[in-house]
Amino acid sequence: MLKRNVYGEDHELYRSTVRRFLEKEAVPYHDAWEEDGITPKDFWLKAGAQGLLCPQIPEAYGGPGGDYKYLAIVNEEAGLLGISAANFQVHSDIAAAYVLHFGTEPVKQRLLPKMVAGEAIGAIVMTEPNTGSDLQAVRTTAVRDGDHYVLNGAKTFISNGINADVLITVAKTDPAQGSRGISLFIVEGGMAGFERGKRLKKLGMKGQDTAELFFNDVRVPAENLLGEENKGFAYLMEELPQERLAIAIIAVAASQRAFDLTIAYTRERKAFKQRILDFQNTRFKLAEIKAELAAAWAYLDQCIVAHAAGELEVHDAAALKLWTTELQGRVMDECLQLFGGYGYMSEYPISRMYADARIQRIYGGTSEIMKEIIARSIDKQ
Ligand SMILES: Cc1cc2nc3c(=O)[nH]c(=O)nc-3n(C[C@H](O)[C@H](O)[C@H](O)COP(=O)(O)OP(=O)(O)OC[C@H]3O[C@@H](n4cnc5c(N)ncnc54)[C@H](O)[C@@H]3O)c2cc1C
Repeated sequence: MLKRNVYGEDHELYRSTVRRFLEKEAVPYHDAWEEDGITPKDFWLKAGAQGLLCPQIPEAYGGPGGDYKYLAIVNEEAGLLGISAANFQVHSDIAAAYVLHFGTEPVKQRLLPKMVAGEAIGAIVMTEPNTGSDLQAVRTTAVRDGDHYVLNGAKTFISNGINADVLITVAKTDPAQGSRGISLFIVEGGMAGFERGKRLKKLGMKGQDTAELFFNDVRVPAENLLGEENKGFAYLMEELPQERLAIAIIAVAASQRAFDLTIAYTRERKAFKQRILDFQNTRFKLAEIKAELAAAWAYLDQCIVAHAAGELEVHDAAALKLWTTELQGRVMDECLQLFGGYGYMSEYPISRMYADARIQRIYGGTSEIMKEIIARSIDKQ
């Protein structure tokens, strides 16, 4: 990999801490978490104690007050080490960011220190059984009743859904108004009428819990409304670049890991009395991937720097997510091929990385929706 110019000395020190922690506390247990379909809460507490959660949260709310690049480093290291359990992106990059940017002061004081410590786990709750891409069609409602809102509806595919205590929930406060009638609420674990459905079984990302959620007359205090009523859609648009950047970071880091693992494997394995790495096909495939990875890191770094400066636009993040996740899909497929039948066996990391990669083109907005967003920006140029 070419030398990168994004991070300073303090960032690199933090990276070493993150890597050491993940190698010691996540890598040895990852298979077991995948068997269980969930990561235990005590891992979150350990991650919190080591400073891996919400590194961007200011000291006033119990965090270290780092810049965006600290968040990026956690995602890079998780991708490079193949950690797809415990969804830290949803917790730190998304849920905590909504609380910090739009939460009322008492709620920030109460919840953010717990999120930094890993005592409260975050989730983003948008998707419903009948609507995913078309967010303005959500049916969950929130009706004001005195100093509370009463929420009713059902959600699905929610990452951290079983473990979460701080759930950033999308609901309609003015159903006649489409996107202008959407608000965001913090639903908290334990609120009466809030129920978790089953843990969903899925193709990959098996170590993280994904769940259905139900809201039956859940009374949410008005102070848990994020920002202003009916402005939720605008807040979602503001936060989506950070969510998509996190997905892109994982895409590039995981592709790098697949490339490195494939070099190691094809060096060892022999066929027709030569190393698999010596076949021209292998050398050319890996050469292509190496060139694409160099472009991917450069593109990613440009976007990390832009986002740290508050300059990453919605369509920029959409283009990055589209290109890096499509690349990840191709890289996983080509690398798995070079492992032959072993690549298809669950005990080989490449098989799980192949499965993990598939969702990246779907969640956080599908590749088709990314193209829509990019296309709209073209029309405005
Ligand atoms: C493992 C996992 C974790 C997830 N985590 C979360 C989470 O934490 N929180 C959350 O809220 N959601 C989460 N999701 C949901 C995810 O964001 C949605 O699945 C995704 O946005 C797509 O929505 P959908 O599944 O309803 O597909 P649909 O919207 O029904 O789309 C089906 C197909 O139609 C295409 N399509 C739709 N509209 C258009 C269009 N305008 N033009 C062209 N093609 C179109 C789509 O691209 C797709 O190919 C998760 C999903 C999974 C599987």
